[in-house]
Amino acid sequence: MALICHWSIEMNVMEQLTAAIALAETHNLLFLLAIVAIVFLFEAAFPLFRYGRTHVRNLIVNVAIAAILVGLDFAVGSISPHGANFVTRTRFGLSNWLGLSPLGQLILGVLGIDLFQFLAHMILHKYRPLWAFHRVHHCDNQVDVTTGFRKHPAELLWKIPWYIAAIALFGVPAWVLAFYLAVSTLNAALEHANFRLPATLDRWLRVVYVTPNMHKVHHSRLQPETDSNYGDILSIWDRLFRTYNPGPRFDELRYGLDGLNERGKQSLGGLLKMPFMPSWGKPATLGIDNRTGEADA
Ligand SMILES: [Zn+2]
Repeated sequence: MALICHWSIEMNVMEQLTAAIALAETHNLLFLLAIVAIVFLFEAAFPLFRYGRTHVRNLIVNVAIAAILVGLDFAVGSISPHGANFVTRTRFGLSNWLGLSPLGQLILGVLGIDLFQFLAHMILHKYRPLWAFHRVHHCDNQVDVTTGFRKHPAELLWKIPWYIAAIALFGVPAWVLAFYLAVSTLNAALEHANFRLPATLDRWLRVVYVTPNMHKVHHSRLQPETDSNYGDILSIWDRLFRTYNPGPRFDELRYGLDGLNERGKQSLGGLLKMPFMPSWGKPATLGIDNRTGEADA
């Protein structure tokens, strides 16, 4: 007992912070479920769009694919933290070479990982074989909190090398990585949630941060809008790379992707095989009205 007390007193602030963040980080299923539950209730109270008839079916599919992602994350999710521990142990990467303070490590680490995640996301859109996988996320006709976790499992594997590259280049310690993953998970739930921020608050926040309103443009059915606002947490990269879109116009916003509306393609099996079905998505079909869930007349 005395040994435990002594240990806890000796534990420095950074270690306590690391432990706290580790509890809340993305591998923690309870953290994820709690976020989703809170946002889900908020959506129900203040919905941006009224859900259509297919919403419950859509919800079940999204939860099922999210469960597969969580399972895969249990298998491969420790690769990046191992990488972060390795760069700290070997004092590799910019933050170690520059001898940055913990605050400096936090700022550089978040900027570095977020830039690399921005690039990874943009390439998913620009390179056709990768877009075939990313369509699974974008073909959701009724964007809500579950859409944030509706991704083809292979997308998770695509992101790992980008995390490793950022960790190595910027010398990101494990506690900064855990902080980033926790904020990124939280924001994945918020930015897809079926609600919008008041315009004034949105205008201020989006100067540096990807707001729920800003990310809604990225789920537009119109391709120039789909190919904008790639940011994960910070909006600065879209401004820098000229992919920033100030929208959306909520009245005209239509979610999803043309040619991928059919029930078979929107099923769990359909979504999992979507990347290997190059003929899917053509020819374009009618848009879905977000407010009714019905095809546009
Ligand atoms: Zn995207």
